[in-house]
Amino acid sequence: MKLSNLFKSSLTKKLSLILTSKRSKEEIFEELEETLVLSDISIELVGKILKNARESSKLSFEKVDFIRVLRDEIKRIFSLADTSTASKPAGLEKEIVMLVGINGSGKTTTAAKLAYYHKAKGKKVLMSAADTFRAAGSSQLSLWGERLDIPVIGAERGADPGSVVFNSLNSFMNKDYDVLVIDTAGRVQTRDNLMKELEKLTKIIAKFSPSGPSDTLLVVDATMGQNTLDQAKRFKTFSGITGMILSKIDGTAKGGTVLNIVHEMRIPVKFVGTGETAGDLELFSLDEFIDSILCDESES
Ligand code: GDP
Repeated sequence: MKLSNLFKSSLTKKLSLILTSKRSKEEIFEELEETLVLSDISIELVGKILKNARESSKLSFEKVDFIRVLRDEIKRIFSLADTSTASKPAGLEKEIVMLVGINGSGKTTTAAKLAYYHKAKGKKVLMSAADTFRAAGSSQLSLWGERLDIPVIGAERGADPGSVVFNSLNSFMNKDYDVLVIDTAGRVQTRDNLMKELEKLTKIIAKFSPSGPSDTLLVVDATMGQNTLDQAKRFKTFSGITGMILSKIDGTAKGGTVLNIVHEMRIPVKFVGTGETAGDLELFSLDEFIDSILCDESES
């Protein structure tokens, strides 16, 4: 499913009806608040958006004005994302992408989709199944590998993820591969914490490629509740994150949750997962996202 077709809700229509009604400014703001909350934007965020809207409102309550303010607000939320650890400059001949995230976020599926994304662009891709904690982790990626005709280096359950990554890098560097996609565990066997484990994997990568992974992407389930989002936030203590992949965006009826996640995580969105098949991964475009939540069919 395409991002541009996902949320085409009637948000703009609803907002227009409110904005053109003959009610008082206060009543109109109350209704705007309710409508935005119903599109899954958190109350806190709606409060901020409307506060800014009030401030810039000499607002004549004309539809375009408010929609413009809303569009700017959404852009502002995205611009708060920390880009200090942006991806390593492109042009490195070999690209190493490590995926991290909590169990069930869609990491393994996303690893396969990302590998397929690069393969479809004509790259020679290798996958590394370093999620050796989960019983099915490694074999799940191997199955994807068979299906997509992309080689996978893995090990049995409980094996040291470090050795899987080491073997993968060995093969990746010595053969004519272009892209290595590494799937990591969302939990670890040892008492060491997960972040230490990830640091360890990064160091192993740096032995082969001194600048480390080209990208370390945090996979975040776009349908997750606050509790799971708090767990995902713990990955922010792992310094190497360069971006997020929002998976299962097709499971969110409205775009509001995406805004909440970006606002809370402050990490740039690189890709979105739009379904369960290999082709369901899209490079994220902010303009397309905004259009998909705001545009009326008549405007698109
Ligand atoms: P992991 O534990 O993080 O490796 O998660 P998995 O890759 O095993 O995925 C968990 C579930 O989420 C599986 O049923 C996947 O098919 C599903 N999934 C992953 N990405 C998406 C997506 O973009 N859309 C939908 N609808 N389902 C997804």
